[in-house]
Amino acid sequence: MKTQLKKELSNIGDFENPRISLEQYRTPPGLAADLLHTAYMQDDIKDQKVADLGAGTGMLGLGARLLGAEVVAVEKEDDAVRLLRENAEMLGLEAEVVQQDIEEFDQEVDTVLMNPPFSHHSDIGLKFWEKALQHSDAVYGISPRGLRERIKDFVGNSSHEVLGVEEYSISLPPSYGFHTEESHETEIDLIITRRKE
Ligand code: SAH
Repeated sequence: MKTQLKKELSNIGDFENPRISLEQYRTPPGLAADLLHTAYMQDDIKDQKVADLGAGTGMLGLGARLLGAEVVAVEKEDDAVRLLRENAEMLGLEAEVVQQDIEEFDQEVDTVLMNPPFSHHSDIGLKFWEKALQHSDAVYGISPRGLRERIKDFVGNSSHEVLGVEEYSISLPPSYGFHTEESHETEIDLIITRRKE
């Protein structure tokens, strides 16, 4: 299932002129397939209402739709919204696309999938976490390794608990991320949380 999913996700169109300030980059299809497979196996995808916050290309949300979720994709930037709609059409998938800042997101969902921006200069990533934890029962979020403890603390002060952390290394465009000069490999985490009973 994962190999086939990765293959289908590889067709999802990438950003043409990525906005660096919004940290627009397409989640690598292999990582997306892994995240989606993990969530699927925990019963958090099929027949569930899933929100993709900062949906960008739609990699996570459209992938969830492929696996049988009802999907709402939230994205604020014009070009990304256009790309998201094109990608949905190309794959023949229906997803509700909501153009708004995630700070205005107010739907209740079963699951949030997200690969939010983590700027050195703002707490925007934590704002995504705050929203996700408030509005869903399970969260699958990608973040830079260096922020693990901060995010775990943040989750610890919410109605969720951390279920698990999976480690990955991904290759980012040179302009992004927390990589060193020599290598564009970036160490990241997939952090999984669930609402406490
Ligand atoms: N999962 C997406 C990741 C895109 S990168 C993919 O694989 O394509 C993060 C996305 O969040 C960008 O598209 C950016 O435009 C969007 N974004 C950044 N800040 C936002 C905000 N405050 N509200 C909504 N979307 C935001």
